[in-house]
Amino acid sequence: MGESVIPLADLRTLARPARIPAQPIPATGLLSDQLGRPLRDLRISVTDRCNFRCSYCMPKEVFDRDYRFLPQSSLLSFEEITRVASLFVAHGVTKLRLTGGEPLLRKGLEALVQQLSALRTPAGDALDITLTTNGTLLARKAVALREAGLKRVTVSLDALDDAIFRRMNDVDFPVADVLAGIDAALAAGLAPIKINMVVKRGTNDHEIVPLARHVRERFGPGVVLRFIEYMDVGATNGWRLDEVLPSAEVRARLHAAFALEKLPPSAAGETAERWRYADGGGEVGFISSVTQAFCGDCNRARLSTEGKLFLCLFATRGHDLRSLLRGGASDEDIASAIGLAWQERDDRYSELRGSGTADAGSGERRIEMHYIGG
Ligand code: SF4
Repeated sequence: MGESVIPLADLRTLARPARIPAQPIPATGLLSDQLGRPLRDLRISVTDRCNFRCSYCMPKEVFDRDYRFLPQSSLLSFEEITRVASLFVAHGVTKLRLTGGEPLLRKGLEALVQQLSALRTPAGDALDITLTTNGTLLARKAVALREAGLKRVTVSLDALDDAIFRRMNDVDFPVADVLAGIDAALAAGLAPIKINMVVKRGTNDHEIVPLARHVRERFGPGVVLRFIEYMDVGATNGWRLDEVLPSAEVRARLHAAFALEKLPPSAAGETAERWRYADGGGEVGFISSVTQAFCGDCNRARLSTEGKLFLCLFATRGHDLRSLLRGGASDEDIASAIGLAWQERDDRYSELRGSGTADAGSGERRIEMHYIGG
């Protein structure tokens, strides 16, 4: 494991007040940023807390018992989240992803899912609502989430081997309980289910084929396994390039065990490159932010737990919407502020990283992933 964990200055306070433009920006659904990218996907972090301490996201050395998580009063309420989400939907968002930290730690999350499920696009369509979880509470919550309107779920699972899994979550949590959570989600009718494995060379890369085999045999074609390249998110995980196993290598190992065929993208802005098992055993995906940046059609915005808008996973500063929400601003003004922030967006960190110029700009430190959601 990387030893060089960097102490964390509280970056959460660094945010500009969201600016309301002099001329209102109407919510037409036709918004695009500086690179011509539309706004289609909103990731909503509902808590900065997690019951895991994965070293690539919340290393225990930093997020220890003295770490001050956000007080309840500073979190957006479910009503505030729903109000903001409705303004993003008016601007063209069709997909909402609930994240964290670990979103299932937020009490009564079903009530938020129910509120969000009632939203409709300007054309009257239902939204695609999903959630990313570490699966620890899924067995208990799957039915209630499904009944509240959740359609599908993504579960993070970095190893099949129990000892490796426990070491990677760093809280000694057993893998069997996460697998049982996936069983419960399938039984509750959440579909499709995706499993995300972050691959770190020298830590869990030898788990690629065993996990793929287990997912094929235990869950079948209805569960999609995706492999994520280890990323330099935030400022605390001690990221090193030589611990990245490129997706091309992951794919080669998998192909040697189970022949693969390439699939076309299923939607614009998709993060995963899609492949399938030639024998009909289902689909797999590769999310390659380091070796194959996908900033070109990135249509994702992120809302932090306390109402800050971030325009990139690797952002250094946000736009504070909560002060508008709690300061009496109208929906039109808040929608205009969202519109202005998006119109001015030119983020493409992964592309710049690839060309070796990523940190050329501000030199500011990147916000932590557990705070804005993966
Ligand atoms: S690096 Fe930023 S702009 Fe590029 S794909 Fe990721 S979130 Fe989008």
